[in-house]
Amino acid sequence: MSLQEKDRQYIWHPFTQMKNANNILPVVKAEGLYLYTEDGRKIMDGVSSWWTNLHGHSHPYLAKAVAEQFNTLEHVIFAGFTHPKAIELAERIIGKLPYLDKVFFSDNGSTAVEVALKMAFQYWHNNNQPKTKIIAFKDAYHGDTFGSMSVGGRNAFNQPFFPFLFDVEFIDVPTKGNEERTLFQLKNLVEKKDVAAFIFEPLVQGSAGMVMYAPEILEKLVKLCKTNQVLTIADEVMTGFGRTGKWFATDYITIKPDLVCLSKGLTGGAMPLGLTICTDEIYNAFLSNNHSKTFFHGHSFTGNPLACAAACASLDLLEKPTTWEQIEMIVKSHQVFKSKIASNPKLKEVRQTGTILALEFKTEENSSYFNHLRDRLYQFFLDKNILLRPLGNVLYILPPYCIQEVELMVIYQAIEDYLDKK
Ligand SMILES: *Cc1c(COP(=O)(O)O)cnc(C)c1O
Repeated sequence: MSLQEKDRQYIWHPFTQMKNANNILPVVKAEGLYLYTEDGRKIMDGVSSWWTNLHGHSHPYLAKAVAEQFNTLEHVIFAGFTHPKAIELAERIIGKLPYLDKVFFSDNGSTAVEVALKMAFQYWHNNNQPKTKIIAFKDAYHGDTFGSMSVGGRNAFNQPFFPFLFDVEFIDVPTKGNEERTLFQLKNLVEKKDVAAFIFEPLVQGSAGMVMYAPEILEKLVKLCKTNQVLTIADEVMTGFGRTGKWFATDYITIKPDLVCLSKGLTGGAMPLGLTICTDEIYNAFLSNNHSKTFFHGHSFTGNPLACAAACASLDLLEKPTTWEQIEMIVKSHQVFKSKIASNPKLKEVRQTGTILALEFKTEENSSYFNHLRDRLYQFFLDKNILLRPLGNVLYILPPYCIQEVELMVIYQAIEDYLDKK
């Protein structure tokens, strides 16, 4: 049996209608920008393997760090015990987010969000002010566990679970021209005094279709929450670690969130790891002789040393000036390409935040994840050995920072080929 046949016999893939999944490609090796398939293809990873990869695949520096850690300490219980790599990582992350004080470890983006929501609810509970409402953006995506689904937009992804999702107040995304409406909606909600927290994807809503909005309005929304005693949770799972052109998307605003969620690029895309980082104001509300005020949350692999070692090594690479020169090169190349294609009649909008470039195609159908253009676009680029995984009719490039200018040109040329088609 081929790998593909065996895969079909035994494996159920994520976000995949298995009835039609005839074309799942076995990847046997990856290096830098490229994935190598069993049948000898070499495919450019234009989406950083679900937005996780920063420095290229199988990076030797990360590989060495993880191997050395494995030979020293592969895992240890994280209650009652600690270890050097978790401490190093926490100290360095606080160094990058100096307005926050304490780091809580988990395993992925969904759990990082889950932890933030539980901290927010329990913060108010412990302070004897039981606020029970959460505000989120329409079409938000914060993960696939029940809490993170609850704060996500209601759509076909979570429709079977509607009866089990807790109530959330959704406000419009403050895209260009809609800022005042969102501000007004938020103002009306926070004045009711029962809101525990406002959660948002800062500047770019990833899964919604790379929907973007400006730092100026985010700043106003966060400020409004602060003045009304509403906690703010920045879900930087996708936007963190240089994606938007700065270390974090929230580096574009001066009024800072109370909680930040990190995952995806945290380990350079090599290992699963999530972090929820909070202020001492929140942390202190859990200090008590009363057991019921404890934060009773944890996972078997909380603070896994291998993942922490990968994350520390990824920070080493991110701190190199050459990485930021690469990020700058990607940002500038995207800008030039954007202005070249912006007025193409096939495109409704071209938008960019940092290293993320998104092209929204005009179609007869509404813009959505299930838009039929999706499969055609996906296949067109895959046939050219470029992995781009459109969100419906929104095609985007979100490359690893190791990509070279000539390789970006190959992707741009393929996009132009598609735009020029009959
Ligand atoms: C991917 C993502 C998540 C969920 O992370 P997982 O590791 O897939 O659970 C949460 N929030 C945002 C903004 C994401 O992009």
